[in-house]
Amino acid sequence: MAAPDVIIVGGGVIGCAIAYYLAEAGARVTILERGEVGGEASGASAGILAPLELTVEQGPLLDLCLASMPFHPSLADTLREETGIDVEYLRSGILRVALSDEDADDLHALVERQQPRDVMQWVDAEALGRLEPRLAATRGGVYSPHLHQVNAHRLTQALAQAAVARGAALRQGVAVTGFVTSGSRVTGVRTGEGRMMAGHVILAAGSWTGALGRRLGVSLPVRPMRGQMLAFADFSSPLRHILLGEDRGYLAPKANGFLFVGATVEDVGFRKNTTARGLAGLRRMAATLVPSLAYAEVASNWAGLRPGSPDDLPVLGPVPGWEGLSVASGHFRKGILLAPITGRLMAQWLTQGRTEMPLEPFSPARFAAGAR
Ligand SMILES: Cc1cc2nc3c(=O)[nH]c(=O)nc-3n(C[C@H](O)[C@H](O)[C@H](O)COP(=O)(O)OP(=O)(O)OC[C@H]3O[C@@H](n4cnc5c(N)ncnc54)[C@H](O)[C@@H]3O)c2cc1C
Repeated sequence: MAAPDVIIVGGGVIGCAIAYYLAEAGARVTILERGEVGGEASGASAGILAPLELTVEQGPLLDLCLASMPFHPSLADTLREETGIDVEYLRSGILRVALSDEDADDLHALVERQQPRDVMQWVDAEALGRLEPRLAATRGGVYSPHLHQVNAHRLTQALAQAAVARGAALRQGVAVTGFVTSGSRVTGVRTGEGRMMAGHVILAAGSWTGALGRRLGVSLPVRPMRGQMLAFADFSSPLRHILLGEDRGYLAPKANGFLFVGATVEDVGFRKNTTARGLAGLRRMAATLVPSLAYAEVASNWAGLRPGSPDDLPVLGPVPGWEGLSVASGHFRKGILLAPITGRLMAQWLTQGRTEMPLEPFSPARFAAGAR
């Protein structure tokens, strides 16, 4: 197949990962980002490389997560060599803590039915206390030593820079406002700076993907799901592991010494503000897991809009009804984890016409009118 020339709409982690792998495959790529690379969900993310529920059921999403995870360590090394950017890959492991007997029963059951079998192990309260001395009194928990984290903003920046080093063009501050079409083919995009033509256009615009689809009469029901977070300046005796609490809350000790606390999951449209109630809930959750955090100083707080989809699966592949158009969005709480496999699959599909794992479960065709 001839190398395509591709416009990618969106410079988040997904658009930048696709650009990186496409440029590696020899495609001519332009990323159009209306703001700054990593300026939306990708820069707001906690950067944990695990399904945060630790309970993703068997199926295509778990397969995708498991396929993506092993690429991260080598990607971190390659990106450092190619760009000088350290994405702060931290081998912290994850502890999911049981604070009640009921939690402990649930977690025991989770360990019993886990697939693959070796991701989590049960640890009793005493061993948990040794792993993480500042923890509240627990009923034990689950340890996943192989689940790690990165600095999500740096990962996004590094992917963009490495894509540029491989020949991609990056245009920041350029918003796509519409499309150029010829019959049923998309042949380019309209921007504030005029028309730009391309053999193929990929919509990787995160929570704003649905609005772009509507301009072409296509249903891509990606919707924003707000996540609020805060960072503690808690440098005295830092936590060593990512801690997961109840209701999907977590504490992530980052490489720069700050402790990230996240995150709310709220369906409030495009309102990207933090709220007193949201932040108070995060502080409460943190102090329940680690009581001394009740007195810790909050260094900063922020919110981001995760691109959610109706079935919580990403939306990947060719857009029905249009040639020359595809989509990569809807990664919800897993976009950082899923960036490498998404970039690889989209690049393989465009340059080779086949992929290392099936794209069909994620096809946007599932949202087409009449689709079952
Ligand atoms: C608080 C929080 C915590 C998270 N924690 C984790 C985690 O621990 N692990 C994990 O794996 N995931 C996590 N996520 C989810 C993850 O961040 C997202 O799934 C991922 O960043 C989505 O990437 P994206 O590139 O699709 O979207 P975005 O990062 O939102 O990028 C889309 C880009 O498109 C641009 N754009 C939009 N419209 C246009 C247009 N018309 N023209 C040009 N550009 C346009 C936007 O400006 C934006 O930069 C978290 C998210 C949040 C908010």
